Amino acid sequence: MVVVASCRLVGRGIALGSLWLAVALSGTPASAQEEMGVPPGEIGAAAQSYAQPAVAPAPPPSPEEALLRAWSDPADSLDQRVSRARRAALESGTWSFDPAARAVLGGVVGGDPLQQAEAAVALAPHLPLAHMRLVSAHWLHAEDSMAALRAMPGLLRAIASHPEASLWFAGTGLFVLAVGLSAGALLMLVLAALRASPNAAHDLGHLVPGDPPGFARFALLAALVLVPIAAGEGVFGVALVLLAIGIAYASAWQRVVLGIAALALWAALYPMARIGAAALEEFPNDTVARAAFSLSQGLASRADVLRLEAVPDDPLALRALAIDARRRGHLGRADALYQQILANGTPDPAVLNNAGNVRLALGHQESAIELYGRALDLGESPVVYFNLSQAFGRAFNVDALNRVLADAQRVDGDLVAQLTALQRVRNESFVVDLPLDLSLLWQRVLAPGAGVALSSSLRAPVAPGRLGHSQATAGIAVAAAAAIGLALGAMLRRSTGCSRCGSRMCARCETDWAGNLCQSCDLLFNHPDRTDRALRFARLEALRKRDRRVGRAATVASVCVPGVAGLLANHPMRALAAILGFTVAVACFWWRAGLVPDPLIAGRAAPTLFVAVAGLSLLVYLGSLLSSLAARRGSDS
Ligand SMILES: [Zn+2]
Ligand SMILES: [Zn+2]
Repeated sequence: MVVVASCRLVGRGIALGSLWLAVALSGTPASAQEEMGVPPGEIGAAAQSYAQPAVAPAPPPSPEEALLRAWSDPADSLDQRVSRARRAALESGTWSFDPAARAVLGGVVGGDPLQQAEAAVALAPHLPLAHMRLVSAHWLHAEDSMAALRAMPGLLRAIASHPEASLWFAGTGLFVLAVGLSAGALLMLVLAALRASPNAAHDLGHLVPGDPPGFARFALLAALVLVPIAAGEGVFGVALVLLAIGIAYASAWQRVVLGIAALALWAALYPMARIGAAALEEFPNDTVARAAFSLSQGLASRADVLRLEAVPDDPLALRALAIDARRRGHLGRADALYQQILANGTPDPAVLNNAGNVRLALGHQESAIELYGRALDLGESPVVYFNLSQAFGRAFNVDALNRVLADAQRVDGDLVAQLTALQRVRNESFVVDLPLDLSLLWQRVLAPGAGVALSSSLRAPVAPGRLGHSQATAGIAVAAAAAIGLALGAMLRRSTGCSRCGSRMCARCETDWAGNLCQSCDLLFNHPDRTDRALRFARLEALRKRDRRVGRAATVASVCVPGVAGLLANHPMRALAAILGFTVAVACFWWRAGLVPDPLIAGRAAPTLFVAVAGLSLLVYLGSLLSSLAARRGSDS
């Protein structure tokens, strides 16, 4: 199933790649084509025929052709090409012109790495790939680490605002976190049950006839733990038995921590896995979302538009069609579509702003100003302020224009400076559409049923049985296992180990003890007068030897197995933190390039981000490990 999903995602990558190629080649000098191993004439002609129809007299270019031309026509400099293309993209309602940015980064129009990265960011301010190149160009080529750090927030904003990137990062991140959390929670349950196992095995032996020897009692316990495998419940069923055993033999605080671990296991396997799968599947599976996204990037095919027109009630399709209508100059249709969207649901700033742009183009300044005002009521936006200033300019209201431009500069001076500069490229009216609101995509990801099939197939190896069949049954099973553990803890006459020598103290075996010491340790430490002096020294020496042996084994286990240090120091919360820090770090590092191939949106941003999260998780692990070791040393001395 993962493979199927990856194939679909790869397919998506190829589709985007071919789009990229069209843009890249249309701006490619012949020498660069030769470097790519392609005879300059051949693809050049193909790209020319795609970008510029050779038939004369030429019909008016389609918006896609106009955009490609703004990008590929001869230019004096990279800057000139970039601002011309950016202006044309914004005029056609394209906020992030990703294909052109990828072409710049591919080196088809020259420039050093820093210039290329800056041009790519200017063309596609929402493309994480471009921001990552800017960070690394500052870091590696300009050796300006401060500028690289200053570019980081832009990278994170791009990841959050690019439709495809936000879904890919959220889906991958949730998957990685789910794997880390479920592996960590399982390890915690295993360790808790292992610690309880000597006493649990002994007590279990009393429930069968006869007096079975120690190894038989352990075999009995192991058989009990493995029953769920035989019953077809898999690892999830085993985890439930371990949870019950761990809770039955735990102290109150240890029980709370085990409850948290069980909750983390459930959350990772069910809600997180489902949402992550839905986010990863959204683009490959949802043709409407994909068509709307291609259209918002300025290069939709006729098939995309037909696909959107086939679902006239879909809110995402409506918005994309409205952008398309405005782009093609069908202002009446665009206006009607925006009015339909505004009448149907709660409007977001993007709809209000874009509807205002259409109204302004139709010459209805007052209703445009009203729509911009409603957009600004929902939140300040430099773009809406800029458009509002254009509307005031059209109405020759200079005072209001200056006031609104000042507001715009206050919110984001750099962006307003860019827009004002772009306005000067061609001195006519220039308003800017806002991109599609991401909440529309997330509504689809969070819709009931989304991601269920993929997440259950990913979960099948761990939870194949009836208990793990659905989120609800699994939740009930976890709660029931915890309740059984609590009941056993209250009902059983639990055996314990002597805190000094480790020997068993069991009510049914009629051993005697005092507090947490066995009878002989109690005599040795609390009533030294009642024991023979020579015997006492021999026993103390034996205990010291045992302490040293146990201490060495404990240190080795603490270093080798995450969480052991915390459990031995009797800090179960630190144990859980260490385990989760370790497993999340391993998962982040293992899947640092993503679960499915990056659809040309992230580049080095994905491994950089995931390795950084892995590093932070390792710090949590190391902090918990060292503090637990220190706590154990403190309690020993
Ligand atoms: Zn003892
Ligand atoms: Zn016993």
